[in-house]
Amino acid sequence: MPFPSTLPIPSEVLKIAKKLEDAGFETWCVGGAIRDNLLGVPNHDFDLTTAAPPPTVQKLFKRTVPVGIEHGTVAVLDANSQPHEVTTFRKDIHTDGRHAVVEFGVSIMDDLARRDFTINAIAYHPIRHEWRDPFQGEQDLSKKLIRSVGDPNWRFQEDYLRILRALRFSARFEFRIHARTLEAAKANAQGLSQLSAERVRDEWFKGILTAKKVSKLVALWRDVGATRIWLPELGTGSGGEGQAAVDKLPRDPVLVSAYLAKDAASLLIRLKCSNKDIDRGRAIGRWRDKYPDATDPVAIRHWLATTGEHADDLLALLPAANAPLQKAVAAVRAKNPPLSLKDLAVKGADVIAAGVRPGPDVGDALARLLEEVLEDPSRNTKEYLLSRV
Ligand code: ATP
Ligand code: MG
Repeated sequence: MPFPSTLPIPSEVLKIAKKLEDAGFETWCVGGAIRDNLLGVPNHDFDLTTAAPPPTVQKLFKRTVPVGIEHGTVAVLDANSQPHEVTTFRKDIHTDGRHAVVEFGVSIMDDLARRDFTINAIAYHPIRHEWRDPFQGEQDLSKKLIRSVGDPNWRFQEDYLRILRALRFSARFEFRIHARTLEAAKANAQGLSQLSAERVRDEWFKGILTAKKVSKLVALWRDVGATRIWLPELGTGSGGEGQAAVDKLPRDPVLVSAYLAKDAASLLIRLKCSNKDIDRGRAIGRWRDKYPDATDPVAIRHWLATTGEHADDLLALLPAANAPLQKAVAAVRAKNPPLSLKDLAVKGADVIAAGVRPGPDVGDALARLLEEVLEDPSRNTKEYLLSRV
């Protein structure tokens, strides 16, 4: 497929490019947006790369944010305060598998050469409508191929995250990974252990959100050895385990991770997830095999009371075959039964007034009353409950 003669560049992006060009700095559109446009899929962040050094970009535009200034990236805010990333042409002069020392003042060709995959190394000039594709990225797009720019071993050793990026793009576009690139990914998998948990987590989560099929992404992570290092809780897997099921889950990275893992909390802790996410994982681990009987509303109310805010996660993980339980839970919830202490018709002060000694006895008394109310919600009246104190 030949390059289209023009690309529909958003007007705000075009304005930024024009201003840079008018000031004498060559400016190109690059990266994901070009790739996605050529593939005909929507993409929202049109990145620009320019000869202008970062301080010049900051001077030329009224409102900028130094989002990654050490790598030469400045976000320019448009009239609607939308950020657009502008990165200075750069070359990585020293890398250690995780960080890069960069040099500015190079050419667009050097800038394309430091990019990860051929399909991500295509540039389009938004004013002259010229194309630069020194690594035949466009050919790889039509062949549906993920291929490293340059020697894959070398490129993965510069930044091991690229291994995970290859898997993500492969699962997202259903592209094959070129044989030598895949081989190098496997050979260098041990280097993944050097990455920070945050970068790995972002990559894993983005992968889950964007894969055509999550099962395919998981198979790729397994195949190159990335699960062994970062997600050992996924086990070795047979490759076939619950594949259809994982593909039917909501695209929620925490939920999907917890579904796949034997010990979800430890996986989420390793990935430095938020405490809230870790709690979700822990709750899923604790209750995933303890669903109530769909024919027993009392058991369902007890289950809702114990699992609390995690009930929806647990319901989302139910196999489709368990529609009766989904329905039964919905029916119980529709009646809005009292499920927690705050729903009780009596408060602490009421039981104290009825003679309970202030202190831990109050909590015990309320907990016992909640038990009674979970058995039979019609008992949730002040009169009945006080009679039971
Ligand atoms: P997405 O749709 O996920 O945003 P993207 O290709 O735009 O995909 P970004 O992470 O936004 O990915 O990066 C923008 C561009 O920067 C990439 O297309 C690629 O050219 C380059 N790039 C990003 N990360 C790396 C990396 N680790 N090594 C080399 N080049 C990279
Ligand atoms: Mg992007």
